[in-house]
Amino acid sequence: VVSFIPKNVRTRLTLWFAVVISAILLAYSALLISLVYVNLRNNLDDRLQQDYEIVEDMITVVSGDSVKIDYDEDPYFYERWFQLWSIKWKLIYDNKPFTSKSLPQITKSEKKSEGFNFEDFKLKNGVRVRILSGKMNLEGKWFFIRLIRNEDRIFEELYGYLRLMLIALPIAVLIAAFGGFFLTGKLLSPIDKMVSKAGKISEENLKERLPVVNPEDELGNLALVFNEMLNRLEKSFERLKQFTSDAAHELRTPLTAIRSIGEVALQNHKDAKYYREIIGSILEENNRLTHLVDNLLFLSRADARRISKNLTLVNLNSFVRETVEFIQPLAEEKNQTVIIESSEVISVKADSALLKQALLNLLDNAIKYSPNDSQITVSAKTENGSAIIEVKDNGPGISTEHIEKIFERFYRIDKGRSRKMGGSGLGLAIASWAIKSQGGKLIVESEVGKGSIFKIILRSV
Ligand code: ADP
Repeated sequence: VVSFIPKNVRTRLTLWFAVVISAILLAYSALLISLVYVNLRNNLDDRLQQDYEIVEDMITVVSGDSVKIDYDEDPYFYERWFQLWSIKWKLIYDNKPFTSKSLPQITKSEKKSEGFNFEDFKLKNGVRVRILSGKMNLEGKWFFIRLIRNEDRIFEELYGYLRLMLIALPIAVLIAAFGGFFLTGKLLSPIDKMVSKAGKISEENLKERLPVVNPEDELGNLALVFNEMLNRLEKSFERLKQFTSDAAHELRTPLTAIRSIGEVALQNHKDAKYYREIIGSILEENNRLTHLVDNLLFLSRADARRISKNLTLVNLNSFVRETVEFIQPLAEEKNQTVIIESSEVISVKADSALLKQALLNLLDNAIKYSPNDSQITVSAKTENGSAIIEVKDNGPGISTEHIEKIFERFYRIDKGRSRKMGGSGLGLAIASWAIKSQGGKLIVESEVGKGSIFKIILRSV
């Protein structure tokens, strides 16, 4: 199907505008012309009635059906046109006998009517006339009178109006269409500006924004919303760039370490014990690297929403016990005691692998950052319908300036110290993602010098 509707919004609006204006003007003109017509005809009828009264005064009955017309005092007598009939339908007088030949016979409705009767008639020569007919009482005797007036002048006047409108209408529509075209152009110009700007925004100039012509109107609102979207995109793009550069930086450190250990070893000719130690160091750096790469992979899969969640009913009491057992050797290395507190049986709907990853990261931090011989308490409890796993340590605590940031990727309060202990700044970011992804929350309460409490909050079943 071929569509004749133009694709361009501006042309379409203009066309609509023109069509609607034409329809309105046409309807308006039709109404106006019919009103004028009714008015002119009423005038004509009024004049016919005046004729009736004037003519009535002119006639005097002589005797029987013969009458005398006294027209000396009527200067317009020859412009009037009338016929006088007897009540038995005999023509008594006609002031335009020749022209009257083309008048119709007296019709039934004329004969029957009691008061005045108006009728339109077209003469043989094409002239339209209006006829007033009715009974007339002259000196106690009844007659029938017909008064005739040319109606063509009315139509001429109407045609005059019509011609005027036919000329004025297209001009008005043209002016309206031009106005509409101009106005829609002006209204839509912000879109053109937005389009040309949006076409130029790419990753190189993500800082640029769409022009907002009028923030109050719909188009301005559209531009604002787009700009907010660009803000978000720019931020996440920045984060991505930062992440990539941080990751590269992190990967570089163990690689440089392996390289320099190897280079030093190559320069010396030592015994097997020395080389074994060197290999040990290289493997340690390798472990760190593997751990880092695993974490990076986890986060990039998490970002791509490629980590599938498998929610099952998890018994928190046994879950906590098993996880603590798993990490116990690390605590024993620092002679720390891990105490488990749980007084009630708690079940949650969770992905146990992700939950374990989160809790392990918290326990790992608690062990890493707390001094030797200290105590770590892990408790499972319910509070206001939530299930909570708490990891409490007696470590250094976290000051308020850092507390918001520790969940960010690669953020470490003391970079050197964390690295020495095998940290890369991703542990809390991963834990936080793992908890959030199953609808929970990870929060921290801490006081410098006293220790920290990390809380995993989940909906209990
Ligand atoms: P890292 O691999 O460095 O441990 P995390 O993301 O796990 O990275 O932690 C971020 C930072 O938060 C750590 O570098 C550390 O400074 C601080 N932190 C985390 N847990 C604790 C804790 N239990 N006590 C004190 N500081 C902590």
